[in-house]
Amino acid sequence: MKKKTLFFILLFSIILNTIIFKAFQGNSKFATYFNNSTIFIIMLIGISLMIYFFKHDNSPQFAPANLKNEKNEKRNEKSDESRIGFKDVAGLEEVKDELGEIIDFLKSPDKYRAMGAKIPKGILLHGPPGTGKTLLARAIAGETNAKFIPASGSEFVEKYVGVGAKRVRTLFEKARKETPSVIFIDEIDAIGAKRTLESNNEKDQTLNQLLIELDGFNNEQTVIIIGATNRIDMLDEALIRPGRFDRNIFIGNPDIKSREEIFKVHIKNKPISPKINVNELAKRTHGMSGAHISNIANEAAIFAVRDNKKIIDFDDFSRAIEKVIGGIERKNFSIIEKEKRRVSFHEAGHALMGKILNTDLISKISIIPRSQALGYVMYTPDEERFLITKDELHSKIKVILGGRAAEEAIFGNISTGAKDDLKKANQIAFQMVCEYGMSDLQNRFYESNLIHRCYDLIDKEINKIIDICYKDSLVKVKSNIDLLSKIADVLYHKETLTGEELNTLIKKFDGSHNLSII
Ligand code: ATP
Repeated sequence: MKKKTLFFILLFSIILNTIIFKAFQGNSKFATYFNNSTIFIIMLIGISLMIYFFKHDNSPQFAPANLKNEKNEKRNEKSDESRIGFKDVAGLEEVKDELGEIIDFLKSPDKYRAMGAKIPKGILLHGPPGTGKTLLARAIAGETNAKFIPASGSEFVEKYVGVGAKRVRTLFEKARKETPSVIFIDEIDAIGAKRTLESNNEKDQTLNQLLIELDGFNNEQTVIIIGATNRIDMLDEALIRPGRFDRNIFIGNPDIKSREEIFKVHIKNKPISPKINVNELAKRTHGMSGAHISNIANEAAIFAVRDNKKIIDFDDFSRAIEKVIGGIERKNFSIIEKEKRRVSFHEAGHALMGKILNTDLISKISIIPRSQALGYVMYTPDEERFLITKDELHSKIKVILGGRAAEEAIFGNISTGAKDDLKKANQIAFQMVCEYGMSDLQNRFYESNLIHRCYDLIDKEINKIIDICYKDSLVKVKSNIDLLSKIADVLYHKETLTGEELNTLIKKFDGSHNLSII
């Protein structure tokens, strides 16, 4: 409801109430209930209601003329506080090469103008969170001595019609005044999302203004606009067409070499034990982003301080990695004996299946609760792999379901402990059916709109994959039940086993039972 209408309804009802009660005041029966103070309380409730509705009205409105763009102003004040360059961005060599041309343009624009060359105006950096998109944008500004003007897409999302658009205008005016400059819009999907029938007037106006500003640049202005997003698929076509954000660069999670480089950047100014092998740290952080690595370096330093150490050693890094992967260790969490036994068998089930099927290397098994998990198995995946076969995906699912299979084999029933495992296993099975064409539906790829329509068919295939894998896990776990019990027993007493300890244990067992699974 519009504010004005609401205001008048409430005002009218208050006045009406007052008149009615005043009129009834002559009536002695009524006067007992409605005296002046009652009327005053009713008016107070009315006014409170008015204030409440004013504060909680979410419908788009027109902005007060004097509304200030305070958020942007504050951000821009901070923007140039520290200059960083490409030396601070580890890895990403091919991306830095790609951006070299833009840097050259900002440094010597005349060279390009003389040739009549147009340089890309907009660069879109996209990829998972924490991979260094913001860092790169800052480094571009740093390398070229350009003014860095950061903004976040969400700052332009306003309920007042026209405010977002005005903020976009102000941002670009500032950039034009302070050339050479780099505008960086993080989370650009917040303003650049695809327009639909449901999108509101305010959002459309903001996006339109952004498109106008992008078109408004000419070759004389040395302004580069960098947008960053984790969801390029959400962006409006108009935004990514040639002439606007026409260079899009994917920034993925770093590979082992890059992780090593990132570690070096983040331990540079810390007292580190000379025994630390950065390559080993990189190996143990497979799949992590630069932000994770920077966090690990910081957590390791905090662990060292906590233990009154003078230098940060490998143990501090190990603890930091585990904390980042699994969350905080819950040392004082008490678990009843029979649950501890079940968790031991569950984790032993994963480890056993991992060894039987020879999937990723196991680096640690633990039944010390962390975050919400009661236990976990840590793996060190093989770095050199880029392709996974159908059989290998089946094996992955079987290892994931190994925990539940072990519970069923030992206790004859299953527990809620496999919730996360089921989620992971089903996700892989979903991808096998809908993305990799690895089900009985053959070589099909299902777009999201098709998924809804073919849901029953897809669900049946997912079910088939999960079912086959689980049955196989159960057979394998049951046929190695003595080894499973041995692993679970040692785990129960020691609570944590390293990858090597697990191997030794299996080798000893293998000696007497002729198993060859490692
Ligand atoms: P988001 O998508 O969540 O906004 P992002 O991709 O913009 O994330 P950044 O903010 O640039 O990520 O990176 C976060 C932090 O991670 C950086 O401040 C830096 O400490 C570290 N980092 C990420 N990538 C690198 C890298 N290549 N070299 C050095 N440090 C890195």
